[in-house]
Amino acid sequence: MRDTTLYQHLLGLTDPWSVARVDLDVTTQRVDVWVEHPRGHQWPCPECGELASLHDHASERVWRHLDSCQFQTFLHAEPPRVNCPEHGVRQVRLPWTEPHARFTSMFEAFAIRVLQENSIQAARKILGISWDEAWYLQHRAVARGLARKKPRDIRYLGVDEKSAGRGQKNYVTIICDLIEGTVEEVTEGREKRSLLDYLETLADEQREAIAAVSMDMCDAYIYAVCDGLEDGKNKIAFDRFHIMQHMGKAVDAVRRHEHHTLAKKGASPLAGTRYVWLYSRENLPSRYWEDFYALKDSDLKTARAWAIKENLRNLWNYKTLRWAEPFWKRWYYWASHSRLEPVKKAAKTIKKHLYGILTYFEHPITNAMSEGINSKIETIWKTACGYRNKQRFRTAILFHLGGLDLAPSTH
Ligand SMILES: [Zn+2]
Repeated sequence: MRDTTLYQHLLGLTDPWSVARVDLDVTTQRVDVWVEHPRGHQWPCPECGELASLHDHASERVWRHLDSCQFQTFLHAEPPRVNCPEHGVRQVRLPWTEPHARFTSMFEAFAIRVLQENSIQAARKILGISWDEAWYLQHRAVARGLARKKPRDIRYLGVDEKSAGRGQKNYVTIICDLIEGTVEEVTEGREKRSLLDYLETLADEQREAIAAVSMDMCDAYIYAVCDGLEDGKNKIAFDRFHIMQHMGKAVDAVRRHEHHTLAKKGASPLAGTRYVWLYSRENLPSRYWEDFYALKDSDLKTARAWAIKENLRNLWNYKTLRWAEPFWKRWYYWASHSRLEPVKKAAKTIKKHLYGILTYFEHPITNAMSEGINSKIETIWKTACGYRNKQRFRTAILFHLGGLDLAPSTH
């Protein structure tokens, strides 16, 4: 088989395109392939498909293709242009690539799979591409996927902030479909706009289809749902793990204060116990058992705060609102009469948001449904060693977690 025929097959070239010449350079480990077409061919206008004869050629362009014999392989061609009576002078579609691409579609499809399954560093090594080329490929793939994405109904949305670098300003808002387990959008900041802008991109039917939105008790997202969705307040579902986090912080505040007071008088039994109190009893790591069992039944305020926090977990074990409500009342009475200021304050915050906590009994959703997403976002963040800008972070998240159809179109 002559090398031109071989490359005809390797490139998957079809009529009217054929390989004119192949250059193999062993020292640079590179194969260059020139392709051509016969004279007198009629070309379809890229806009309307109307056949027209050749007008001229654009200057030669080069596309990276899949390696052949482990050599980087490049395809060269002068793209033909037609003069359509309706659309003027246009470059025709080339079967091996998408318009404006620097790679053949076969290379791009392969590169997307490699980038999906590897860190950027590893993918760059496998593919022999630069950082910028890796970004370019991801960016194009996501743009393609978003353009193809069909509007669909999302019953349960999850919304959460994520730090994207140092400082207060560096946050993004991550909006997920909790059932599909996909990231629907990543927006700037963690303000009301960050969520409202997304809701406003949805069609009326899509907004109506949202049954509940899981979130932390934060005003920005609350206002966004109240403004962005009809009957929005009733669709808010405060995430139980965020609520327990608030209680955890209250316990820690009690511990810190008590520890300082005791340490002033002498030795404090609370020294070095900060992490002991963060866990529920079942999840307490064994290294903390000794400390914990020595302290839990003491008359320490911290032990009491911990018991109140842990008791609240039972709220979500009730099957119905009817049973949950009396429990809540008993718990709130206990917490608000505890004489532990941080606990009282946290209990008040929770009470103020009770409307969205009890939503759980109608829509049992939590942001933990997207826990897999969170850990993957964490990995994306780490393996890229941070991101030069939030736009790239968004692209990477949608590339890996957007559930998008990323492959280049085939002709
Ligand atoms: Zn045309």
